[in-house]
Amino acid sequence: MSRVSMTLARENGRICCASCKMPLAGGSESWKARAILTEVSVARLPGAGLGVEQEVTIRRFSCPSCGALLDSETALPGEPFLEDVVLG
Ligand SMILES: [Zn+2]
Repeated sequence: MSRVSMTLARENGRICCASCKMPLAGGSESWKARAILTEVSVARLPGAGLGVEQEVTIRRFSCPSCGALLDSETALPGEPFLEDVVLG
């Protein structure tokens, strides 16, 4: 097993949760589509100023098995996921 990031690992060509080893997706698939997605409006976060764009959300991707936070990104509603395609 090799590490892809702090939270993801690769085993037998599949992307796995590094915490519980649950396979999330094949190497060419979007693992984010398999993760638990939570979206939070940036404007609702504590400390958000008035200048914050109301529509911007933070997407959090969690492991469906152990709940570990795998990745997060900021996006506008309807924007596709930022795919970090892992080559190897
Ligand atoms: Zn996990």
